[in-house]
Amino acid sequence: MSLVEYSEVVQEGDVVIVFLGHDAMMPVHVRSGAQTQTRYGAIRHSSDLIGRRFGSKVTCSKGGWVYVLHPTPELWTLNLPHRTQILYSTDIATITLMLDLKPGAVVCESGTGSGSLSHAILRTIAPTGHLHTVEFHTERAQKAREEFVRHRVGHLVTVRNQDVCRQGFGVEGVADAVFLDIPSPWEAIQHAKAAIKRQGGRVCSFSPCIEQVQQTCEALVASGLQELLTLEVLLRVHDVRSVTLPLPDFGPEDDQHTHTHTHTQPAPGNAVVTVKTATPPREMAGHTGYLTFATKVRE
Ligand code: SAH
Repeated sequence: MSLVEYSEVVQEGDVVIVFLGHDAMMPVHVRSGAQTQTRYGAIRHSSDLIGRRFGSKVTCSKGGWVYVLHPTPELWTLNLPHRTQILYSTDIATITLMLDLKPGAVVCESGTGSGSLSHAILRTIAPTGHLHTVEFHTERAQKAREEFVRHRVGHLVTVRNQDVCRQGFGVEGVADAVFLDIPSPWEAIQHAKAAIKRQGGRVCSFSPCIEQVQQTCEALVASGLQELLTLEVLLRVHDVRSVTLPLPDFGPEDDQHTHTHTHTQPAPGNAVVTVKTATPPREMAGHTGYLTFATKVRE
């Protein structure tokens, strides 16, 4: 198992996602002899997980069952231990697209935080790219390193425990893309520019507040980066529902009278019709943050 490559069978040391139904999931680190408690009873790693195919249905000790799923960056984002605020797949998808991320890309990121975005970047740039991620909180940097190794992507990433605003990314002139998710991104723009390859690289900064965006844009312009664009991604998932409506009476089917009918009357006998409709959500998860992009062009 690896977060960037699929394998068929669960092995010792893997991280699997145990799916409990109704969107409930949990990550499990597989170790022979260990047990994990679920609401359906215990899962015994040696007999229930190791050697089983990913996607299998596993019966727990109380008779209930779960599915054992192969981890993906998207599932990891939904299941990871939160050490910070994290980015979710909706924003990550736009970041991946707009930063032109692809296999072989070299990417700089700060802060690492809980590693939600990092895992998605790693999957996209594997097997030949590299991620340089900078996190000034020592424990978070260490935890991220441990997770990358456990998820078998350690060879694709370098974690640096330093302040990106003072010390930069630790590399210069190599990055295809730089991503910032820190409270004062304007203080890191010069370092972002220095990290990017000579021309054509892209920068993205995530900020929840428009005042942060304003200061970041000023720093981007001052540093000579171009093609500034700020956007916000809002997700509307439409529900398909059946609704029952009274059947309207359109009057007699007579061409000459078609234009004289101004009102429709309910059809006799309370006739109804059931139709499928797609309705947007009444409430939805709103603002997460603004994404500001810029390009380094030939000077
Ligand atoms: N994008 C991450 C979340 C980042 S949270 C994810 O998806 O999981 C912001 C992180 O930036 C925090 O962990 C914080 O410690 C770190 N940070 C803030 N300022 C920083 C700086 N100047 N240098 C390095 N890391 C910084």
